[in-house]
Amino acid sequence: MSPSVQIQNIFAGQALLPDGWHDNVRLCFDGDGFFTTVQADQKPQPEDRRVDIAIPPMPGLHSHAFQRAMAGLTETRHNPADSFWSWREQMYRLAAAIDPDTLRAIAAQLYVEMLRAGYTQVAEFHYLHRAPDGQPYAQPAEMPLAVIDAAGQAGIGMTMLPALYRHAGFGRPLAPEQRRFASSPEFLARVVTDITARHTGNPLVNTGVALHSLRAADGGDIRETLRLLPGDAPVHIHIAEQMKEVEDCIAFLGRRPVAWLLDEMPVDERWCLVHATHMDHDETMRLARSGAVAGICPITEANLGDGFFPFMDYVDAGGRFGIGSDSNVLLNVAEELRTLEYGQRLISQKRCRALPSGQTGSVGGYLYAQALRGGTQACGHTGGLLAAGRRADLCTLDSRNLSLPGLRGDTIMDSLVFARATLPISDVLCGGQWVVREGHHIHEERIATEFHRAITTLHSQRSSLP
Ligand SMILES: [Zn+2]
Repeated sequence: MSPSVQIQNIFAGQALLPDGWHDNVRLCFDGDGFFTTVQADQKPQPEDRRVDIAIPPMPGLHSHAFQRAMAGLTETRHNPADSFWSWREQMYRLAAAIDPDTLRAIAAQLYVEMLRAGYTQVAEFHYLHRAPDGQPYAQPAEMPLAVIDAAGQAGIGMTMLPALYRHAGFGRPLAPEQRRFASSPEFLARVVTDITARHTGNPLVNTGVALHSLRAADGGDIRETLRLLPGDAPVHIHIAEQMKEVEDCIAFLGRRPVAWLLDEMPVDERWCLVHATHMDHDETMRLARSGAVAGICPITEANLGDGFFPFMDYVDAGGRFGIGSDSNVLLNVAEELRTLEYGQRLISQKRCRALPSGQTGSVGGYLYAQALRGGTQACGHTGGLLAAGRRADLCTLDSRNLSLPGLRGDTIMDSLVFARATLPISDVLCGGQWVVREGHHIHEERIATEFHRAITTLHSQRSSLP
């Protein structure tokens, strides 16, 4: 931000701070995009930007940006046995057609939609490494840099996680349609080094690594990748999304995937286990104790027919979790949390399930706060809290758009999660920049035009249609 830009501090009637809700909160931030002071029970200054309600935005801990280009196109039944695996074939056809410019246009549109939905940080689990013919790009980081460029256009925080992908399944070589995904520990180390060199000092970009899955990456390669990676970088993995991968893992490795990972790898706070959907009780307890984050993607997991994450047992044992938009079929923070809670109600035939046993309180408040905490950890995110020293990210809400007048504290979160179709966000601040104003992204028209052009071109290549 230019030093000549006048920074307007914020005065919120109510704000969700790290220790709960407070009234009359003044939030000040600097030209580097970080909060300098956040204090409750203040008086507004004449130059302050006055808002009704301020909340910390949600990090999205799991996204595949390119899949935004098939949102709504995979809901036609072609076979009574349609499943995750037939959806994956459709997704591969799309993946084969995407070049860096197309990816940039799709991702920029996605990130505009994410910001409007109330996300200001996204962990991008990236595996489109090579050109469509399977040859490496001259610049190995070509595709992830296009994604990061898109994030920069939109003004969203990016945790780039290039993925290790070496096998089609346990012990099987990559299939022709997976040739774009081919990568090695050394390749990933080079990509991470390139990105880090270009974005050192940029508070909106950090890097980690993804291990596509145990079916796509073996133990030796995972250990080598961890050895080459900076010691504090986030590590994400798809772990147990489908029963077939659990069965294949038992057949090949002799253990269930989460059990194998916890036995063999140093799983701790750096780790995020995405789709830990199919765990037995012992795995659930051990993951909860590990300090790692369970990456839950309720809308996508429902859309793909994955199954139910053992949420209540996991939360009872102190497990950490966050949410991700994954396939990006729909960007909606409220609906991710609502789907998670309603799934548990339908299974248990009881209400208000998300809280640990014996604990009472607001379900919406609990879900939002815990997903915020887990997502912040999983992304290695410098925001996530309205507090001095954190990246200056926040969402403002107009109290007239809540479900009822006069709501206060966590009843606001219950209104947001259960009684609004989407979070009724007015403005979004990310890294000290107001990127959404009155519900509109500052570059939404230009980015939508590019997206429209990219999708029209993509869909004119009929073979790329899912
Ligand atoms: Zn995924």
